[in-house]
Amino acid sequence: MDKIEHIGIAVKDLEISNALFASLFGVAHYKIEEVISEGVKTSFFKAGPNKIELLEATNPESPIAKFIEKKGEGVHHIAFAVSDIISEIARLKKEGFVILNETPKKGADNKLVAFIHPKSSNGVLIELCQEIDN
Ligand code: ZN
Repeated sequence: MDKIEHIGIAVKDLEISNALFASLFGVAHYKIEEVISEGVKTSFFKAGPNKIELLEATNPESPIAKFIEKKGEGVHHIAFAVSDIISEIARLKKEGFVILNETPKKGADNKLVAFIHPKSSNGVLIELCQEIDN
């Protein structure tokens, strides 16, 4: 696994939270992207060298809606950059981690992504992401 690629934060209202985090970081979000298959609308911030992703549910069945229902707003996942997501999934599976999607899917920000179930990683949802070459 490489560096932390971003930290994902679940929010109820993207517009309100965009303003909140813009005043926290001193810089506005640089993009908004909807991932229809995941039922989320995301916005991205750069805070120094760090990237923060805000996630708002776009329907009540969205994983973000369910997360907020159970735990409230807050840190939702930590994403790590990997150079070869397929082999990383295979390695982690062999180590006993529960992979939520063994076939990587297209996530926000031009990435292939896969998630590790928090029940196998001390309650932390881990996202693996690999940049898609254009
Ligand atoms: Zn993410």
